[in-house]
Amino acid sequence: MGGGCVNAAVRLSDGERSYFVKLNQARRLDMFIAESGGLQEIRATKTLRAPRPLCYGTAGDQAYLVMEYIELNPGRGAAGGQAGRRLAAMHRNLAGGFGWRRDNTIGATVQPNRRCNDWVRFWREQRLGFQLELAARNGHGGRLQRRGEKLLAGLPALISHAPVPSLLHGDLWCGNMARDPEGRPVVYDPAVYYGDREADLAMTELFGGFSSDFYAAYREAWPLDAGYGVRKILYNLYHILNHLNLFGDGYLGQAEGMIDRLLAELH
Ligand code: ADP
Repeated sequence: MGGGCVNAAVRLSDGERSYFVKLNQARRLDMFIAESGGLQEIRATKTLRAPRPLCYGTAGDQAYLVMEYIELNPGRGAAGGQAGRRLAAMHRNLAGGFGWRRDNTIGATVQPNRRCNDWVRFWREQRLGFQLELAARNGHGGRLQRRGEKLLAGLPALISHAPVPSLLHGDLWCGNMARDPEGRPVVYDPAVYYGDREADLAMTELFGGFSSDFYAAYREAWPLDAGYGVRKILYNLYHILNHLNLFGDGYLGQAEGMIDRLLAELH
């Protein structure tokens, strides 16, 4: 089937039943175990549909994850009112703290999820700080690091709305949502953890593709707190830093621009 951003994909069919199989190197099995757990976590909420994971393992030098095959219709229609309502309902599933029971991956990058009761600290250490350190190791020192440090120190002033730990999809761009043949919204390829629901919403805005009906339905189900407009930059910065680390220099200007914009809020 070509596959997505990270893995190869195969459709297995005996004419009656179909399975969707993701493949990668055997040493990446842990990524598939985490993905399987993430799909289960979303499915348990009975809100947004997600494929049922069936099994995983290694065969020779390959790791595999087998899940239910769903005939998917991508495109703008997927992320409409129903998806907005169901996402809000999914976000109503709360945990005792931020993080998750295990680490997972965002794209091909490790995403740490150590449990933490303090969201500001979680975002500082396990999201922005973690990606900034990776960036330093990837040769992006200097200005990015200096400005980044300042931003980390200023986080308490930027995150002051006391969010609750909601179950998040974690990688909710329009390429990870589609409709099933009955028209129901389906999500896949998650990077779940419990965090501020605004982080999921911010990501929907990063690459577009979600309709105004989606946002209206979400806000009707669960209105957003004041200040989301600035925090969404803070939340999307995580994904842009991840892109910088995965895909290189092309994202440096965007990352620095976002940091500058956030630091300007602190004055
Ligand atoms: P990657 O982890 O490599 O990004 P994805 O999980 O995003 O891969 O899957 C790649 C593509 O395969 C998706 O964009 C989607 O179109 C399709 N897909 C994903 N899961 C299923 C499924 N369970 N059934 C059918 N198609 C799927």
